[in-house]
Amino acid sequence: MEYLLGEITKRGHIIVGDMDKADFVLLNTCSFIHEARVESEKVAKRLSKKKKVILLGCYVQMFGERVFKIFPEIDLFFGTEGGKFTEKILENLNGKKKILKLNGNENIFYSLERYPLNRFHTYIKISEGCIRRCSFCNIPSIRGGLRSKKIDEILKEVEKMVSMGFQEFEIISEDTSLYGIDLYKRRMILKLIESLTKNFTDKKFRLLYVYPDKSIYDIVSAVKESKSFIKYIDVPFQHVSENVIKYMNREKVDVFEISRMIKKMGLVLRSSFIVGFPEEKAKDFKMLKDYIKEGYVDKLGLFMYSDENDRIKDTVDYSKKIERFNILININKRLALKRMKEKIGKFHEAVFYHSDGEFIYGRLLEDAPDIDDVIVSNNIKLQRFNLVKVKVKDIKYYHYIC
Ligand code: SF4
Repeated sequence: MEYLLGEITKRGHIIVGDMDKADFVLLNTCSFIHEARVESEKVAKRLSKKKKVILLGCYVQMFGERVFKIFPEIDLFFGTEGGKFTEKILENLNGKKKILKLNGNENIFYSLERYPLNRFHTYIKISEGCIRRCSFCNIPSIRGGLRSKKIDEILKEVEKMVSMGFQEFEIISEDTSLYGIDLYKRRMILKLIESLTKNFTDKKFRLLYVYPDKSIYDIVSAVKESKSFIKYIDVPFQHVSENVIKYMNREKVDVFEISRMIKKMGLVLRSSFIVGFPEEKAKDFKMLKDYIKEGYVDKLGLFMYSDENDRIKDTVDYSKKIERFNILININKRLALKRMKEKIGKFHEAVFYHSDGEFIYGRLLEDAPDIDDVIVSNNIKLQRFNLVKVKVKDIKYYHYIC
C-alpha cells in the first residue's frame, strides 16, 4: 500500500487519514483465510455506502471477475501490488466504467516510490511471491512465484528511508529463507544480512517470515552475530508434529531442536501455528500443546484451520478445533503474562507513536511493530518516533504500563 500511496502522491494527490475529508477510499484487502475474506467483504460494503471505494489486494486478485457480482456498488478493482496500477486508477477515478485489473505476477520486482505510514520503522519487502506449495496456503496462486529484489536495490531503498529519518526496518517477504534463489541461483539471505549490517551499522533490522528449513541454523547465527539486527526472529513453524507437517506439504524439521537452538542463541522467537489441521490426531495435538507449554515461543500467532482450497478435506470437527484452540490460547495467555511481568521494574528501550491526549502508545524495541505488545504511558510529553528509555511499572490488559 505504501508503494501505491507513494506513486499517487508523486502525481499530486493528497492522502488524508480522515475518511470524511477524502474523495476516494483505497481499501486494501486480505484473502489469506476465510475470516479475512469475510472481514474484507464487510468493510468494503460498509465503506462503499459512504464513499467511492477503490478495492485492492489479495481478495480482488483471488476472486477476479466475481467481484463485480459481490460488490455491485464498487466500480474500481485492482489486484495485488497496487502501485503498478497507479495510472489506471487515477485515469478512472471519476469514471462510471467498471474496471478490473489483476496483477500478472510478472517475473520482475517493481521498485516504486514509497509513502511511509510511520516515521520510526518501516517494512522492506525483499521479494514477492513464493515457490513452495504448503497445502493450506493460497499465496502462491494469488501472488505468483518468487521474484526477489536485487541486493543493491534493497540497499538503495534502505538508504533513502534512512535519509528520511527511519531507524528500524522490518525485513519481510512471503519466504525470507529462499530470498535470491530466483535471481542469483542461490540463497542470498545471509549475504543480505551481511550487507545491511555493513552499510547501516547504527540502524535496526528485524527478520520476519523465515521458513524453517535447513538454512535456519545459519540464518539464526547471522542474526545473532549482526550488530544491526534485533535479536528476534519470526519462524512460522505451523505445527510440531511430523505427521501434520507432512500433510501440510512442508519440509520435515525438528521444531523442538530448532526452537532450543534459537533460545540458546538468545533470540526472541515469534512463530505461528495452525490448530485443528486435517489429520491432527489427539497425539499430534498433545505434541503441540506440550511444545507451547514449554514456553519456547515468546510471541505466538495461532490460527484455527479453515479449508482454503478444497484440496484437503477438513477432518477435525469444528467443536474439537475450538476446544483445542482455546486450550492453546489459555496456556499462551498465562505464559505471555508471566513473560511480561518479568519486565516490571526494569528499564527498556521503547518507541512511542501516537497519543489520544490522555495516554501515549508505543512498543518496546524488542517487540515487532503492529503484531506484538503495546506499551502505554500517561506522560504524553514523551518523545515520539525516537528511542527512549522507560521503566515498566505494571501490566494491564496485556499492555505494558510505564
Ligand atoms: S512458504 Fe509461506 S507463502 Fe509459501 S506456500 Fe508456504 S505458507 Fe504459503
